Amino acid sequence: MEVYKFGGASVKDAQNIRQLAEIVKQAPRPLVIVVSAMGKTTNALEKIIDAYFFHNKDFSQQLQKIKNYHSEIAQELFPDSHSVFNYLERLFLRLENELSRPPSMNYDFDYDRIIVFGELISTTIISQYLNLQGQNNLWIDAREIIKTDNNHREGNVDWQLTETLIRKQLDFSNTDLYVTQGFIASDRNNQSISLGREGSDFSAAIIASALSADKLTVWKDVDGIYSADPKRFSQAQKINNLSYRETIELAFYGAKVIHPKTLKPLKDKNIPLYVKSFVNPQQPGTVIHSFAEDLSPKVPVIIVKDSQILISLAMRDASFITEKEIEKIFAIINRHKSKNNVMQRSALSFSFCTDYDHAHTPAMIEELKNHFTVKYNTDLTLYTIRHYTREVIEKITAGKEILLHQQSRHNVYFVVKETTEVPQTSL
Ligand code: ASP
Ligand code: MG
Repeated sequence: MEVYKFGGASVKDAQNIRQLAEIVKQAPRPLVIVVSAMGKTTNALEKIIDAYFFHNKDFSQQLQKIKNYHSEIAQELFPDSHSVFNYLERLFLRLENELSRPPSMNYDFDYDRIIVFGELISTTIISQYLNLQGQNNLWIDAREIIKTDNNHREGNVDWQLTETLIRKQLDFSNTDLYVTQGFIASDRNNQSISLGREGSDFSAAIIASALSADKLTVWKDVDGIYSADPKRFSQAQKINNLSYRETIELAFYGAKVIHPKTLKPLKDKNIPLYVKSFVNPQQPGTVIHSFAEDLSPKVPVIIVKDSQILISLAMRDASFITEKEIEKIFAIINRHKSKNNVMQRSALSFSFCTDYDHAHTPAMIEELKNHFTVKYNTDLTLYTIRHYTREVIEKITAGKEILLHQQSRHNVYFVVKETTEVPQTSL
């Protein structure tokens, strides 16, 4: 059996959903398809959650926009009297219901119980549309098959329970096609839990692994993995084969190709991962598998991560930063669920660069201030160049203010302040 994953871009409008149905029609059976929220719905829901949680602001217009967006897509795909409109109405009522409860004290908990609607709505439309096309399928609530701890916004999977549930529920006894959501799961108390932004790839890998799939295909709006973002770098090269290891390295530093957690479950079961274009499905795309070790690129790979903050800590009395202090720093970083991308230590200071998260970073800084003198710069960009050459480093760093620079045998990292609008760089 195989698993297909369709990201937000590949279900962003009626035309793409028709294309999805075409791809699914050609696909082998049995098949599980895992689908993200449509287009930028998750971003839009995040804005609503912020308005709801932090600002007590009116979000009815934003909510209406999300409703209209999905209704218009459904109107293009279904006849007027189709039952999908009832299902959508019910889902929107449930979403409104969640938003009419007073916020809890826990942002991440509230985030999860609201964010899941993006995927619940998209898969309802997709499942019904496939049925309408004669591709009979069963819709599965992913929260009933993927179980995590209660670490909201980045649940840690309970592998054993999850595997048992997936095998039991997706046994293909009544169908050869299941449709389910990426990104969403639940804890043992059946509270909604999300798996981290862009986590649908990971969901697909969890399912592929539990069912020992022959392969997982991730359908995207690009035709594979590139050595750099083709939109930012004119000479980005397509990579045909990658090893799991190499892909994990790329994903960890923010290559937008695949969620970093996706690879491990696949690697453990030796399941190849295909990254393919849903516009040109006949193109081979990129294949990630265990035999690719020698084929992995030695071309420089450039990964850009925006919205970084560089935080520098020093002792108030200008004494050394000892291991004891570093232990304290890491405990605080961990408590605030911060992702530490690069770090550097000198005798008197400890600096680290992390993704800026408006719900957590300010509180982390406040806590650090209780112990250290804290300085920070925001709106930074982290460049990682893997398999770097001098020439590429010079091109990337030209005209940029470098705040932190670190180099290892395979990778070089630059935390920079972009001085101008990001121009297209030719490599
Ligand atoms: N819809 C979620 C997101 O945009 C999950 C995903 O797309 O993978 O982050
Ligand atoms: Mg997405």
